[in-house]
Amino acid sequence: MNITFLGTGTSAGIPVIACPCEVCHSTDTRNRRTRASVLLSWKSKNVLIDTSTDLRAQALREHISHVDAILYTHSHADHILGLDDIRPFNFWQKSAIPMYGRPETLSHIRRAFPYIFESSSALSIIPQVEDFEIDGPFKLFDMDILPVPILHGPNEIIGYRIGRFAYLTDFKSIPPSSVSLLADLDVLVLDALRRRPHPTHSSLDDSIAWARRLKPGRTYFTHMCHDLDHESTEQALPPDIRLAYDGLQIVLES
Ligand SMILES: [Zn+2]
Ligand SMILES: [Zn+2]
Repeated sequence: MNITFLGTGTSAGIPVIACPCEVCHSTDTRNRRTRASVLLSWKSKNVLIDTSTDLRAQALREHISHVDAILYTHSHADHILGLDDIRPFNFWQKSAIPMYGRPETLSHIRRAFPYIFESSSALSIIPQVEDFEIDGPFKLFDMDILPVPILHGPNEIIGYRIGRFAYLTDFKSIPPSSVSLLADLDVLVLDALRRRPHPTHSSLDDSIAWARRLKPGRTYFTHMCHDLDHESTEQALPPDIRLAYDGLQIVLES
């Protein structure tokens, strides 16, 4: 399985509009972070986790030629607003794209994009999707997809485990019942918003502690805000914990 980080930024994206800070003005391209999303590829299938606000720019940058399924973590704006950008994929593929998410996530998406789900025939091209509500593990293109419940502040949302890879964006804590789902990972991706505590996101220190506890082969941090400069933050981390950046690709053997 190939993993491509499409976006590694928090909801505002980095640079933040009108922000005078050093990270937002950095010439290190790893400090340019679009909204959080990853592309997983196996058996020539492309699977998106979330449709970020920046999906169009991400798809052009990474030369994504087709999307075969979408897995949603939750319905916050930064994770869903790119849904309209799947229209060219529908056009080239001549098919609807299956999307998976918890019932409450899909019902928020239906309310955010009523024109996609209304039955009246549209006069212009609209996204074509088939929505599938999930409440547990399921199979997708011969792989087991395991939703992993996590707490995003007061809200329970999901991350995903696929084989020996897990992607947990937007969490403040991992409930005990989900810790057991995260054993024996080669690669773990964790939310690490900033150094200071935040009510709905894990801090850098808390995410380092989660990595130590879950003991994956490698950990990558994502959903980072402009408090974290790539180079200086990464230098202070243990070698098995790295900051992800837009465009980073990882190959998983299993
Ligand atoms: Zn987010
Ligand atoms: Zn969120």
